[in-house]
Amino acid sequence: MSLRRVVVAGGGAAGFFAAVTCAQSAPDAEVTLLEKGPQFLSKVRISGGGRCNVTHACFEAREFAAHYPRGEKALIGPFKSFQASDTVAWFEARGVKLKTERDGRMFPTTDSSQTIIDCLLAEARAADVKLVLNRGVESVTKRPEGGFELRLSDGEPLACDRLLLATGGCRVPALGQVAVSLGHTLEPPVPSLFTFHVEAPWVHDLAGVSVEPVEARVPETGLRERGALLLTHWGLSGPVILRLSAWGARELHGFAYRFPLRLNWLPHLGPEALAIELQSRRDAAPARFVVNTPIAPLTARLWERLVLAAGIPGDTRWAALSRAGRHQLGQQLLRTELPVTGKSLNKDEFVTCGGVRLAEVNFKTMESRICPGLYFAGELLDIDGLTGGFNFQAAWTTGWLAGRAMASYVARSGSEAYPQRFFPNAEGGWA
Ligand SMILES: Cc1cc2nc3c(=O)[nH]c(=O)nc-3n(C[C@H](O)[C@H](O)[C@H](O)COP(=O)(O)OP(=O)(O)OC[C@H]3O[C@@H](n4cnc5c(N)ncnc54)[C@H](O)[C@@H]3O)c2cc1C
Repeated sequence: MSLRRVVVAGGGAAGFFAAVTCAQSAPDAEVTLLEKGPQFLSKVRISGGGRCNVTHACFEAREFAAHYPRGEKALIGPFKSFQASDTVAWFEARGVKLKTERDGRMFPTTDSSQTIIDCLLAEARAADVKLVLNRGVESVTKRPEGGFELRLSDGEPLACDRLLLATGGCRVPALGQVAVSLGHTLEPPVPSLFTFHVEAPWVHDLAGVSVEPVEARVPETGLRERGALLLTHWGLSGPVILRLSAWGARELHGFAYRFPLRLNWLPHLGPEALAIELQSRRDAAPARFVVNTPIAPLTARLWERLVLAAGIPGDTRWAALSRAGRHQLGQQLLRTELPVTGKSLNKDEFVTCGGVRLAEVNFKTMESRICPGLYFAGELLDIDGLTGGFNFQAAWTTGWLAGRAMASYVARSGSEAYPQRFFPNAEGGWA
């Protein structure tokens, strides 16, 4: 067996970044990337609606890490080594320019995820990474002399010195079985980044209407978010709902996705400012129908539904709206309560909350603290971010760290060709 064989299990974003980084940093290493499916980078292909939201234009490690409901603390250090600006530079150095949209999301200027796939495949081939499709890692045993003996899905054995597991989110615990067999603990998997089912017909009738800003909160929990809300044929979506679903992934799973949701449609107005606004409409246009005079930024249709939902008939004029009626309308605008009865996956991006327990991994090198020689990267870890490019950035960063650390091992274990300064020192810092 070669002393320098590195195997990467998983041909997604994290696996490719690690394999390329390792092979480029240590050309003596024999790096093999095993993908159990028929395609490499299949999630990159469908990501960002086919455009691939590669990362997010936020260039401060702590601020970036604050976008991870799971993994925030663990990722601060890694982002100090490889963050969004490094991702931008990495792709630009290989001829792939990224552009930033108004909300901070970064995409290839081609608006095609194929650009990212072509780049990663070309880099892997140029660095002599052995790319293998349709062969997964089924089981792993530790060799007494160090390294691992793998059993592949076609029954073949394969030995290696260093093994990276980058097999993606384990939607079901069985997908994390290899890590568990090597002594690791899986935080139970539950979905993150989903939309809410609401059975109120007036919401369905308004499908396609978007409002910003709205404040959404789940009473009696700390879950509260503000942002754009989208009404859909089945309920509610948009950034504010996706953020609530991410921060509340475990809690909302605990409620079996049945809970009350409270919406404040005019969060920029407090109760007093709203009362003054309603009174001034009554004074300024007493003869106008209440349903016809929306308060910005609410659309005419949404306003009409909210007025009717407050129990105010459509033919009520402002002059006829009593103090109690104004109070009811105010309550409706500031505290609409909708029962959530289920969830749907958000088709644009979803991830798994849960995975390999973070305390069991050294985030300077991504090496297991339990099983030396074993590394982790990407969504298999108990890390998940908000939408906007954060999930790929976690994959690039952890893949890059693991690739560098495995290359460092190759250099230490035989080749004098690579000066130590290119690799992490014993403490995992950068010389
Ligand atoms: C529809 C959709 C759109 C998304 N869009 C975005 C976006 O625009 N921006 C963003 O930041 N995030 C996005 N995400 C999230 C992002 O795709 C993931 O977080 C990211 O792909 C994780 O990378 P990974 O390499 O860890 O895992 P994956 O991309 O899931 O790759 C893991 C690979 O390992 C393979 N594998 C599994 N088990 C084995 C085994 N035993 N042996 C060998 N191979 C194995 C799998 O087949 C898979 O190819 C999106 C997710 C979805 C579902």
